Amino acid sequence: MDFELSEKIETVLGMIDGFMREEVLPLERYFLAEPFSELMPRIEEKRRAVKQMGLWAPNHPEEHGGLGLGLVDHGLVSEALGVSPLGHFIFGCHAPDAGNIEILHQHGSDEQKRRWLGPLVAGELRSCFSMTEPEMPGSNPVMMETTAVVDGDDYVIDGQKWYTTAADGAALAVVMAVTDPEAPPHRRASMILVPTDTPGFDLVRNLNVMGHAGEGVFSHAEILYHSCRVPRSNLLGAEGAGFVIAQERLGPGRIHHCMRWLGICKRALDLMCVRWLGICKRALDLMCARAAERTIAPGVKLADREIVQAWIGECAARIAAARALTLQTAWRIERHGWKEARQEISAIKFLVADVMLEVVDRALQVHGGLGMTDDTILAWFYRHERAARIYDGPDEVHKLSLARQLLKRYRR
Ligand SMILES: Cc1cc2nc3c(=O)[nH]c(=O)nc-3n(C[C@H](O)[C@H](O)[C@H](O)COP(=O)(O)OP(=O)(O)OC[C@H]3O[C@@H](n4cnc5c(N)ncnc54)[C@H](O)[C@@H]3O)c2cc1C
Repeated sequence: MDFELSEKIETVLGMIDGFMREEVLPLERYFLAEPFSELMPRIEEKRRAVKQMGLWAPNHPEEHGGLGLGLVDHGLVSEALGVSPLGHFIFGCHAPDAGNIEILHQHGSDEQKRRWLGPLVAGELRSCFSMTEPEMPGSNPVMMETTAVVDGDDYVIDGQKWYTTAADGAALAVVMAVTDPEAPPHRRASMILVPTDTPGFDLVRNLNVMGHAGEGVFSHAEILYHSCRVPRSNLLGAEGAGFVIAQERLGPGRIHHCMRWLGICKRALDLMCVRWLGICKRALDLMCARAAERTIAPGVKLADREIVQAWIGECAARIAAARALTLQTAWRIERHGWKEARQEISAIKFLVADVMLEVVDRALQVHGGLGMTDDTILAWFYRHERAARIYDGPDEVHKLSLARQLLKRYRR
């Protein structure tokens, strides 16, 4: 494995670091104090500047206006952007659009691509991914209840979803719904594109998450689909292909495009972990700066206390280990495909989330009362990133999956 940086990526990372420091981090005080919509004009200004610098959409293919970076390179970019909650949005590679764009790119019909892909990559429109339901376990989505019933040339969708991130203001929802209740569990559901102005798409509320309902891309909605009618041509990929993630456990024999799709999902997961490493980097930076500057007794700085030094040492070591495993995973996926990297993928999902939450917690502790306020970004990270241990597969699911794969050999 060779993680030597190419000249191209070194230049890109240098430009991104400078832009984040000078243009993005100063926006955070407004982000923490104002409704997001009021900040949007300034965000749009930064997005235009990113486009002019030729750094827009680093992960998307060049033919769609992106930089076309590979997985390891985009991982490094994602880490650099992750130091601020605003980084990925300002550079056009934010969730959930990034994942939806990948799916559309791989599985969209020509018409679907023509209508949605260009505007999504350009950041003119936003999308959301609507799978989890309040009454059913998101950790076992084959139990999903939302249905899409064929009626003439249409699907009619009925069901209740929640935690549809960024639905507020989105133009498009990618909806998971049961299209064939009689099919085996993993073939029951499909993905359907639903423009959010379709009658029967009702955004009930933005959920109040850790005391904040948020708005726009920083929100999570409850949505009712009632008699929501869209043309059958809005089906994404094959009918019944929606549960490819669950199919992973069922072994070989899946159709080729589903394999690719699963790879895309895993890639999104991997990129998320590197964003968390960016948060670690920022939290460690803030922790060190505060410890070095804060006087806690005459002539004594916080950084002089051995317990604080031990925290900083532990955090730095854990970040370095998490980073190495994440880059190794990205490298393995890039070289050998997601299947060969399954164990590492499960490992980084819970390991990096754990390291990130610990580092944020320690940094907040070092800041004392200041850490609890929104005068630094730490409290925001603390509130919003706790969910890292839940979404896209709770910790337990990934730990069990990793253990099962390891135990296979011994059971034989
Ligand atoms: C901030 C945030 C953003 C999200 N964004 C989206 C989105 O954009 N679109 C979307 O569709 N969904 C989204 N989700 C939903 C997310 O995917 C689900 O919350 C997640 O899959 C868990 O499902 P659940 O909440 O129904 O918990 P449940 O399935 O009820 O599980 C509850 C808990 O049970 C435990 N558990 C589960 N399975 C096992 C097991 N096998 N063994 C032992 N313990 C287990 C875990 O601790 C888990 O946290 C988001 C969630 C959050 C918090």
